[in-house]
Amino acid sequence: MIARVSLEIALRREFDYLIPEELVSQVEVGSRVQVPFGARKIPGCVTALAEESAHTNLKAILKVIGTQSMVTPKVLQLARWIGEYYCCAPETALKAVLPEAVRQEEAGFRERLFVRLLNVPAEPPKLSRRQQDVWNILLERRELAMTELLKLAKTTAATVRKLEDRSLVEIAPQISERDPYSREQILPSTPITLNPSQVGALAKIVAAMEARHLTGAQAPTVRVGAAGGTGGETPSKPAGGDACATLAKPTAATFLLHGVTGSGKTEIYLQAIAHALEQGRGAIVLVPEIALTPQTVERFKARFSSGKLQTLVAVLHSHLSAGERHDEWHKIRQGRARIVIGARSAIFAPVDPLGLVIVDEEHEQTYKQEEAPRYHARDVAIVRAQMENAVVVLGSATPSLESYYNCKHGKYTLLELPERVDDQKMPHVRVVDMRQAAHAEKGIPIFSPQLKEAITQRLERKEQTILFLNRRGYSTALQCPKCGYVAECPNCSVSLTYHRLEQKLCCHICAHVAPVPKVCPAEKCGNPAIRFSGTGTQKVEEAIKKLFPQARCHRMDADTMKRKDDYRRILGDFRAGKIDILVGTQMIAKGLHFPNVTLVGIIYADSALHQPDFRAGERTFQLLTQVAGRAGRGDVEGEVFVQAFTPFHPAIQYARRHDFQGFYDQELEFREQLKYPPAGRVALLTLKGRSEDKVKFSAEHVKRELDKLVAPAGETATAGFKDLIIAGPAPAPLLKAETYYRYQIMLRTRSMSKLSHALAKMVAGLTLPDEVTMAVDIDPVNLF
Ligand code: ADP
Ligand code: ZN
Repeated sequence: MIARVSLEIALRREFDYLIPEELVSQVEVGSRVQVPFGARKIPGCVTALAEESAHTNLKAILKVIGTQSMVTPKVLQLARWIGEYYCCAPETALKAVLPEAVRQEEAGFRERLFVRLLNVPAEPPKLSRRQQDVWNILLERRELAMTELLKLAKTTAATVRKLEDRSLVEIAPQISERDPYSREQILPSTPITLNPSQVGALAKIVAAMEARHLTGAQAPTVRVGAAGGTGGETPSKPAGGDACATLAKPTAATFLLHGVTGSGKTEIYLQAIAHALEQGRGAIVLVPEIALTPQTVERFKARFSSGKLQTLVAVLHSHLSAGERHDEWHKIRQGRARIVIGARSAIFAPVDPLGLVIVDEEHEQTYKQEEAPRYHARDVAIVRAQMENAVVVLGSATPSLESYYNCKHGKYTLLELPERVDDQKMPHVRVVDMRQAAHAEKGIPIFSPQLKEAITQRLERKEQTILFLNRRGYSTALQCPKCGYVAECPNCSVSLTYHRLEQKLCCHICAHVAPVPKVCPAEKCGNPAIRFSGTGTQKVEEAIKKLFPQARCHRMDADTMKRKDDYRRILGDFRAGKIDILVGTQMIAKGLHFPNVTLVGIIYADSALHQPDFRAGERTFQLLTQVAGRAGRGDVEGEVFVQAFTPFHPAIQYARRHDFQGFYDQELEFREQLKYPPAGRVALLTLKGRSEDKVKFSAEHVKRELDKLVAPAGETATAGFKDLIIAGPAPAPLLKAETYYRYQIMLRTRSMSKLSHALAKMVAGLTLPDEVTMAVDIDPVNLF
């Protein structure tokens, strides 16, 4: 037997290896194996099995890694699609589908010694005092880890061994699963009676799941009783594949659930998941990394993972230790966990069979991976669901233009939840013209008089306030008022940010750190009155402490969130009312639920507007809407102050009126004119290197190659590429980052799969100077 193996080094091809006799029973498609490659031993993934090979002198597989195939055939197929569509080496795509912790052999299961009570004699055994302590604990617990037992009994292993000698207990190694949530006390929850718009939405999702279940090739599998009211036996269903076998490919089953925060989307997710479990299928829930708070996880665990169903929900995100990630993943692979909640890469979780994928906050940028493979988890979710006959629900209060457009064009089904569940009104949003405030104060104040007044009121009424500014540090730049000198990063084309507490200048791109100069370092200047311009969260915090010394104020941004527990601790304090004012970056903008917050202040709303990115307006609209949604979730109506220097910008005005449709219509018009997504598709080629000349020269070379796509020499343009628009090469908006110069070429087309195919071909034949590399980003999200 021959195994075709994709090695974990990007060679863009696969290699054949012999399967030695003794390994035949273990090697299957998806197995991870170690193979010889030249003088090295390299891990790889078996992608196919064959009877014979076109090559002779094959080497043999050295060993199989792990006891079970790691990549299911379905996920393997998905990796292939990613390689093709996102124009990257298949090896790179394959690597992405397995967490590092699972690929690394070392991070295996952890075995620990467990002590188990063997038999309880009728007569209480005669024991020493220390032995008695151990015995009492065991009588109560029956079985527990040795380390825990020793801690509780305050003794040494020798004491326990004596009990073992008398055959009272057994000591044996056992796999001990690392459970990141073992310390949580989670109370079970039951399904809530839905309101009419929720009922309508859920019915459509469930109907699609039913249709796909019947048409799919899946045989009915073990039933897992859903927790809560929906449990019990499910009605029997016809065996997969027969009843509707004549139906062709099922129609698209992607839903966009559009509803403001608090409109009951999560409750719909929970009940749709319960339905998937009844069908004997599993579910994947994607949430942005930043929203993976204990609060979010808890809601899913409470419904499905309490009581007897302890392991039903697995969690995958970057704050877990490698060991925890390893164990959570294997829980899924072994089918013990049927629901996965995680960040971007959880879309590759080996849930099988898969019935439902939820992508919450589908408009979030973090779903896009910014290194190869540059995939978009939302789009991968849709492709995966199609391959596996599953249903996708995208949820958002501010859908991406792409998803909304797909609804309008019949690709997705739009489900709307127009109101908050508790009938609460949307917060009152006031836009404050900061130009007036600046005029009155002869300088730019951090707080307008209106916002100051509002904060004072909240402090008096013992209500809470959130102040939002999307920029950490103290001030954005260090500038000399005399000569205009600005402290810049030597590696990147951005100014350094002043961090006052730490007394340093810091680059937010490459993390370069520099001391704060005492006088202006510009030659011939030396002005000692060098000062700082622009505002960061540190400065906001400091200003609050000065203005409201009695207020308890806390800051939450990447600088204050250094340790694993900081985030949950501060949010816990805020929830408990131990903090009056929370200052933060986008870290506090998402998905948090605090009933006592009645005021939200957005310090500088235009910050994202004036960026060279066609999505700048969309991002501002989304951010303002999201942040505003933090206000007034309790009994008191919320109030939001948006401070802006361009108060009449449409993104700000539509956000003020909570008018998504209005924003969408005018934004789409602009995108259509310029053929930007969703009216067209974009691919971004970024060339980078240390020599600007070489980068520029190479970019021009690539441009000439691209021109051939439009009209190959001696031919007319191939039909599909008539609409290809090539812009550039041009310096990237961030010309220099981490010492590399960057040039970009932007491509716009209507048919992306065709373009990525052509790009892959072009890349394969391309020779660039050694010091220059090119990244291909299909459907880019970040244009810098
Ligand atoms: P979203 O995900 O849209 O922000 P949630 O599902 O979190 O909304 O709902 C907001 C709050 O309302 C939650 O506390 C939830 O338990 C509750 N809720 C949801 N649906 C209902 C309902 N039909 N009746 C009463 N309360 C509900
Ligand atoms: Zn830098």
